[in-house]
Amino acid sequence: MASGSQSGRIESFERLTRQHGLPLTVQRRTVFEILLGREDHPTADQVYDEARPRLAGISRTTVYRILDTFVQHGLITKICHPGPAVRFDPKVRRHDHLVCLHCEKVIDIEDRRLARLPCPDVRGHGFEIWDYHVHFLGVCAGCRNRKKGGSGSRKPLRRSDGKPAARSARETFKKGR
Ligand SMILES: [Zn+2]
Ligand SMILES: [Zn+2]
Repeated sequence: MASGSQSGRIESFERLTRQHGLPLTVQRRTVFEILLGREDHPTADQVYDEARPRLAGISRTTVYRILDTFVQHGLITKICHPGPAVRFDPKVRRHDHLVCLHCEKVIDIEDRRLARLPCPDVRGHGFEIWDYHVHFLGVCAGCRNRKKGGSGSRKPLRRSDGKPAARSARETFKKGR
């Protein structure tokens, strides 16, 4: 089931692979389709599990390599996540994330104010900032419902002004800026 915007994304994916001189193999196309079909920011292993029945004989290493190639060419992004596994995001348009510390779920958010954050002065570090990404850590609706009455291991760090206290930014390595 491909929505209109998904088929648009596949067309632009095909155009970009041509521009980048990447041969459009069935494996690459299928991996990209799998990513587009999910909004949960899957791990490489989750992509592999979904690719296996669709691509007979595909190896885990091949899926990892395809994902890395996509990241290098800016077709998808790797996202910052406190869990042990790297997560992949097919949405390359500017957006930020809510991350559940219980189930590791990642939810996309778009807020124009986050796109206008002032960059810190990091000249003293000799660092050149290319991009940033904000993730808000907390508990998702599903986990909040399940945990009702239970004891959470981690207390919310809410500030008195009601603003979230847990926020971190990262610098991603994006090409072509
Ligand atoms: Zn959760
Ligand atoms: Zn995302």
